[in-house]
Amino acid sequence: MTVCTCPASVAMANRRDNLKTIWQSPEWKAANKIFHSLHPDNTCERCGRTGKIVPGHTSEDYLDMSSYIAKVRDNRCEALCGMCNWQESKGKNPCPICVSRKSEVIHYIGQYQEECFYCLPDAVIEKRELRKAGYKKWIRDMRDADNAKRREEYKRRKSVEK
Ligand SMILES: [Zn+2]
Ligand SMILES: [Zn+2]
Repeated sequence: MTVCTCPASVAMANRRDNLKTIWQSPEWKAANKIFHSLHPDNTCERCGRTGKIVPGHTSEDYLDMSSYIAKVRDNRCEALCGMCNWQESKGKNPCPICVSRKSEVIHYIGQYQEECFYCLPDAVIEKRELRKAGYKKWIRDMRDADNAKRREEYKRRKSVEK
């Protein structure tokens, strides 16, 4: 196996090693234990699902691990399920309407969205569908016009040949 030695890969590998070291450190284990003892219900603070929770972190937390460990220990992190934590790393949150409906499938949305597509009011969806239909019609008209022009051209040429 060849190992890539470009600076970016080395930095990535180091970060992974650092994290591995941190997850194995007694400080982290103690902090994590306290955190979990404060969340005995194992409920995700964002989506309300229960199961395995983790102390949520922001990307800045990685810059200073000792303060992140302190944050976990002092319960200054959100308790998140694995999914919410993973989506957070992509800047996404659970759709509040999915959450309030306690739907089985919870969709994730971007920062500026208020609800997921599935929770949009019918009127909004209708408008969207109409717009889509309008676009299709426009494409169809363009194509028809194009074909008509081509037919004209064909006819013209035919008459010249005669
Ligand atoms: Zn969650
Ligand atoms: Zn939704």
